[in-house]
Amino acid sequence: MREDPVRELAALVESLSEWLRYQRRLGRVGLRGEPAVAASPAAGQAPEKIPTLEEIRAEMGQCRRCKLYPGAKNLVFGEGSASARLMFIGEAPGAEEDLQGRPFVGAAGQLLNRMLNNLGLQREEVYITNVVKSRPPGNRDPEPDEIAACLPYLKKQIAAIQPRVIVTLEYLAEHED
Ligand code: SF4
Repeated sequence: MREDPVRELAALVESLSEWLRYQRRLGRVGLRGEPAVAASPAAGQAPEKIPTLEEIRAEMGQCRRCKLYPGAKNLVFGEGSASARLMFIGEAPGAEEDLQGRPFVGAAGQLLNRMLNNLGLQREEVYITNVVKSRPPGNRDPEPDEIAACLPYLKKQIAAIQPRVIVTLEYLAEHED
């Protein structure tokens, strides 16, 4: 059985705050990160180019790679800093996200904003997205084939941003609508 969401959120905020304080003491973390760089290539190989967020979005186009696309009003790609240290990943867009084409803008978004404020962060300083970018009908859980179809985009987003910490927001997303 799951814990009280408020307690769960408070614990998450406290853990993140503690981690940020620790990293700052070590001089490792500013609120903004550096641009992503590719790992060193093997000898004789050209460095691999990491697609930017804009390039990834352009590649997706009007995506029809899984059965979620006909029911979705908008593709919810993600938003925030391309060099964020913290990345938040929800499960799937809800009704309000689908309408606006932006992640975490409903009740869950307000909770997330409060959580970020408690951490001394603004939304623009982190990156927020979902595992699947199109709303599942009736807010059901995304199915394995849908996740598999969309996951390459999320992996590319993570590679482009190279966050230090990834926070998953399944519980918030589940209770948005
Ligand atoms: S959920 Fe992902 S893979 Fe499926 S249609 Fe939307 S963007 Fe494409």
